[in-house]
Amino acid sequence: MGDKLNFAFYWTAGCGGCEVATLDIDEKILDVAELANIVLWPIAMDFKYEDIENMDDDNIDVSFINGAIRNTEQREIAELLREKSKVVVAFGACACHGGIPSLGNFHNKDEIFQEAYVDTISTNNPDNNLPTPKTEVAEGELTIPEFFDTVYKLDDLIEVEYYLPGCPPSTDLIIKAVEAIANDNLPPVGSVIASKKTVCDECDREKKEKKVKEFRRPYEVDVDPELCLLEQGIICCGSATTGGCGANCPTVNMPCRGCYGPTSEVADQGAKLLSAVASVIDSDDQEEIAKIAKDILDPGGTFYRFGMSNSLLKRKKLG
Ligand code: SF4
Ligand code: SF4
Ligand code: SF4
Repeated sequence: MGDKLNFAFYWTAGCGGCEVATLDIDEKILDVAELANIVLWPIAMDFKYEDIENMDDDNIDVSFINGAIRNTEQREIAELLREKSKVVVAFGACACHGGIPSLGNFHNKDEIFQEAYVDTISTNNPDNNLPTPKTEVAEGELTIPEFFDTVYKLDDLIEVEYYLPGCPPSTDLIIKAVEAIANDNLPPVGSVIASKKTVCDECDREKKEKKVKEFRRPYEVDVDPELCLLEQGIICCGSATTGGCGANCPTVNMPCRGCYGPTSEVADQGAKLLSAVASVIDSDDQEEIAKIAKDILDPGGTFYRFGMSNSLLKRKKLG
């Protein structure tokens, strides 16, 4: 390969796990350093936004953006990176589908601020002050980014070429993506860099006819290490979830939570999961079905844990 590429890494609304996953590729990070100059990576090095603003358009070969978009600063930097990049990769579940932050779409800004700054016992806020974009102080005007009512996935706001799903993406997939870039062997624009199969397809557990009389949480079950978890009454999202992780969670007796997002054949991951779970309930009696369904704690969080921004619902209706 001739001249080095330019890579940017940026973190918006997320937990930082995707940044750690990037470092988890261990010595392969040296291959990245050999392949590319890193022109922005705020978690690891000191950069200024104006360094990026001063670049020519398309100066960055690939921007890897992890996190959802939930305030004006995140939107601005995502738009700036879009302008300066040939390729943008939505990196991780939050960027691809909204991820855990998009559970905020079951509420609105006022409800979230009330919980976070007023009702919580962990904040000492006797005057019930709430964040405001502009505040006048003796020294002048202070500004902070404006918080949106709705959490967006990255491609709601900017064009994205590739999707690297997972919470966080597995190191194998990160390496696969970097190798594809290095070898100029990227798939068609719009591709999800994962598997075409579902997690169930990758899972070695024995699958029989599923008949469930009660749903239980993993800690309540003496888990059979060979049998499908859903058949043991543990809600497992493998059937509606894109593979590529090698069924990581079921392999260690934990159910799939759906972090790789819906497969290409699924329009709404939560609805598909709801239908999969409904189909295994072993009863024709309405009362009994209702009783079994009550075992599912937090259905919204269970079925849309990683993808509320990517769902047909998108968010709870704003009142
Ligand atoms: S995808 Fe998961 S690991 Fe990555 S930022 Fe979001 S919550 Fe964190
Ligand atoms: S539902 Fe879960 S445990 Fe069962 S086969 Fe699918 S991934 Fe494996
Ligand atoms: S098994 Fe499911 S939750 Fe676990 S890493 Fe794979 S896609 Fe994510």
